[in-house]
Amino acid sequence: MPLPLTKRPEKDLVRPGGVGLDAVQVVAFRRRLMNWYRTHARQLPWRGVNDPYRTWLSEIMLQQTRVAAVIDRYNDFLAKFPTIVALALATEADVLASWSGLGYYRRARMLHRAAQFIVREHAGKLPSTALELRTLPGIGEYTSAAIASIAFGESVAVVDGNVERVLLRITGRPEVATAAARSFVQAQASMLVPRRRANSEGNPPGDHNQAMMELGATICLPRAPLCPQCPVYGLCKTRGEHLTPARPPQRSQPASYLLSLRKRGVITEVLLEKRPDHASLMPGMYELPQLPEAVVEGREPLLRLRHAITNTNYYVRVFAARGPRDRTLRKSVPIAEGALHWVRTSRLGSEPLTGLARKALQRLDVMEVRAVRIDAQPDLPDEVHLPRPAGAADEWNDDDFDEL
Ligand code: SF4
Repeated sequence: MPLPLTKRPEKDLVRPGGVGLDAVQVVAFRRRLMNWYRTHARQLPWRGVNDPYRTWLSEIMLQQTRVAAVIDRYNDFLAKFPTIVALALATEADVLASWSGLGYYRRARMLHRAAQFIVREHAGKLPSTALELRTLPGIGEYTSAAIASIAFGESVAVVDGNVERVLLRITGRPEVATAAARSFVQAQASMLVPRRRANSEGNPPGDHNQAMMELGATICLPRAPLCPQCPVYGLCKTRGEHLTPARPPQRSQPASYLLSLRKRGVITEVLLEKRPDHASLMPGMYELPQLPEAVVEGREPLLRLRHAITNTNYYVRVFAARGPRDRTLRKSVPIAEGALHWVRTSRLGSEPLTGLARKALQRLDVMEVRAVRIDAQPDLPDEVHLPRPAGAADEWNDDDFDEL
């Protein structure tokens, strides 16, 4: 049976076209990368921690999500669920509420299920090898390698989009997503990750993997790499002369929502729609009721904002239900009555809201905005250039790239 790539001796690793790094370059690359990382690594709350649960949580939160967006959520999540056992004992609704705004809610559901599995099958302790970690819900090849190397020092390569980009540029390969390119990158990454030695200090495999990802995230940027600041510039075959793949076209879509409030004594409630439990996206989460575009024709919205999900920009308008005319507006909500719920505004922070609902309710001062703690260097700016729909007014609120 062939050995997995990560376990093969270096001499057996494939170097298609002879463009991979040789043994001397590998040593130089590791040394330069680590020297740079020791002085340039961003201080992030999940770095330097000695708790595999924290490493696991950060890796799940960071999937498809900007570092700056994760920092505050990570601390809050840990304050609420400080251990795997605490997470396993929570309700799914509680976990989703704490995840609100991070998007890709399947991650939260899988994290919760995995915590319950770990408590049931592993006495509450996270497995320590990439192989075992892959048996947990929501943990794939990348995440298992990241946790195993960073939290347990296993010598296994982590290949995310940042690492792939760095390695393709270093070796002069075109940035194309083919099976051959992936296999080449995996081989190069495996060759570079240091072996674990019994007497070695610290965690060379984990530090190396984090340094590779850091290089891609802060220096070897997708559109405009900062080559003069790159620690491995001397080993790089492209140095900014790489071919950049074309961006997928952005789509624009309008979306209108209803804001309906009512007072009951001193209590204020807002009307929300619960997404069906069988919905493929964000099942069971609350959002503002959606309105047909024809109904809001000619009305002035309370709020306009833009919400980007992958390659679609939603140009969102929120309309208030007030006065006799707006009873018509409320009746226009095209959903079953049973899916509508009056929710106390004071409890919105603990309800599983979609990212868009949370953003709109905060902008409208219906929901409290929590203070954001940024105790790390800010992320480098995203390189997203989002087109506006024809005729869009200037008051569109330009948000950063946002969540699902
Ligand atoms: S020299 Fe430039 S292109 Fe090459 S790895 Fe460094 S940042 Fe990326």
